[in-house]
Amino acid sequence: MGSYRAFAELLCCPTCKGAFAPATGEVLPCGDARCGKRFPIVDGRPVLIDEDRSVFHHRDYQPGQAAPLKAGAGRAGALRRWVSRLPSPGVNLSAVRCFETMKRLLLERSSAPVVLLVGGGFQGKGMKALTGEPALRLVNVDPSPDSAALIFCDAHDLPFRDGSVDAVVAQAVLEHVADPWRCVEEIHRLLKPNGIVYAETPFMQQVHLYGYDFTRFSHMGHRRLFRRFAELESGAVAGPGTALAWAWRYFLASWTRSRPLAKALALFGRITAFVFEVTDHIFGQRPGALDAASCIYFLGTRAETVVSDRELIAGYRGTQR
Ligand SMILES: [Zn+2]
Repeated sequence: MGSYRAFAELLCCPTCKGAFAPATGEVLPCGDARCGKRFPIVDGRPVLIDEDRSVFHHRDYQPGQAAPLKAGAGRAGALRRWVSRLPSPGVNLSAVRCFETMKRLLLERSSAPVVLLVGGGFQGKGMKALTGEPALRLVNVDPSPDSAALIFCDAHDLPFRDGSVDAVVAQAVLEHVADPWRCVEEIHRLLKPNGIVYAETPFMQQVHLYGYDFTRFSHMGHRRLFRRFAELESGAVAGPGTALAWAWRYFLASWTRSRPLAKALALFGRITAFVFEVTDHIFGQRPGALDAASCIYFLGTRAETVVSDRELIAGYRGTQR
């Protein structure tokens, strides 16, 4: 991944989408005097965030804070690392297959395609299918100051030029943004014609990541979110078993006001929920699972037409009658 300068020809001001002026010291100024925005560079990583349009401030980014650069890998807290080692099948029925499809399509078109990992400052599931392919130019962006992002930015105002990127991955990102529709418009804008998007977004899932949790999507709602894209495939990332596992953990944790006790109950819930989660490997891709899935995915290509709501509804694949 290296330096952000390797992607300089793709970057633009997040506010006016104009070109940058040359960096002066630790500041990257917008080249358009009417815009006048200036962006700090912290430990060689630019913070391409417009403070007037984002919940993030430039002061949030301090030297020595970010995780080492590695595509799709971030530094998790000690508890998070420990919990992540607990037995869990970590159901993901889609990522590896979709990444293999994405990789094949990209390498048919280009010898060095650029893949933008939105929210890629932390490890996404199945990501090794992409990180293991040296021909792909992966660039991970994230607003989290402690993440492994090469470029810090806000998904509402992505600092990439129109039609500059070959593919975008957004795993468990769009529930954490205030305006997912605007973020998908940004993804559409920066993708090349026919560029590929892969997104995983929760449906039946409880609140996580503190206050940064806004929206859930049914399979239909998620398809509508990507209505300016042609579908390659879509479905459940994880099914009703995982949904039940989350509900069980949060049900237990809701019994107490004590944070340590809630954490202990959540941990107990995580261990005992194992039995629910494994059922997704058997039932998770049946049509009925789509109506109660924990998480939904969409793999598609940028289109210049819009799928109508009537077409969307006609494409319902669940089992409700
Ligand atoms: Zn600007």
